Amino acid sequence: MTPSPRLLLTIDYEPWVALSRRYDFLPSETRRKLDDGYAFRAVDPILEHLGNAKASFYLVGELIDWYPELPEKISRAGHEIGFHCQTHRVLTDLNEIEKDLNASADWRKKYNAHGYRAPMINTVEGVYPLLEKHGFTYSSSLYAPTGTFLRKGSIWEIPVSTLPLIGKPSEFHAPRRMDFRLVFGGEFPYGSSMMSGLFTKTVFRIIEDQLKAGLSPVIFLHPYEIVTPTNWPRRFTHDMLSSPLLYPFTLNKSAFLKNLLRNFPTSTMQDFIKEKFQ
Ligand SMILES: [Zn+2]
Repeated sequence: MTPSPRLLLTIDYEPWVALSRRYDFLPSETRRKLDDGYAFRAVDPILEHLGNAKASFYLVGELIDWYPELPEKISRAGHEIGFHCQTHRVLTDLNEIEKDLNASADWRKKYNAHGYRAPMINTVEGVYPLLEKHGFTYSSSLYAPTGTFLRKGSIWEIPVSTLPLIGKPSEFHAPRRMDFRLVFGGEFPYGSSMMSGLFTKTVFRIIEDQLKAGLSPVIFLHPYEIVTPTNWPRRFTHDMLSSPLLYPFTLNKSAFLKNLLRNFPTSTMQDFIKEKFQ
């Protein structure tokens, strides 16, 4: 069965410090202090923004240690809880990935998290057997043209959307991340919030066109792009000076989100996969 086209809206739910690599190896308690309640305070306004529209939230597990009520709020509102990682950092080493999966096993089971989104959408082929072993059904951890569905063992890989500008690629091996190879290969990664920050109207139009063509775009946003943290982006100046490419991620995209929700149907990834493959 071909499910009706819809926007597959995903939210990589992470503390604002996850945007920079500068905080990755600090103690969790230091990151908690820096977050200062933000990721918990943001959830109600975000759920309000979504209204009746459903989305997939890929959570950083560390947030559940800091704010135990967070996942309950999200799942009670009818959204999908998925897994972003336990502690946000580059996860491309299989031993590190496995440790991260073990550290999150309890809460993933409790909240029925069966979808995986690799940090920075950067992963390796070896992740899929590990996801299978740890009870996942799907992953969304590559970039690829909208409508690409990949079978990796028993795991479905449903990539974040790109628009191919010069012919469709035929190989989809991890990593397929936001890098020069992807962009110079002729793909516009419009599913990334970096692109919706820089080219808001263009991204909106692409989403509209893809839906009209019967495809279901996969896009992601972060909480700090919907509910602006206090003192933002001033508290992030140091990070932006060293990595100016982070700037588009600091822009507020709540108007973009509102416009999407006013115009297009959404569903969770899990519901879409159920309709399409089961
Ligand atoms: Zn992330």
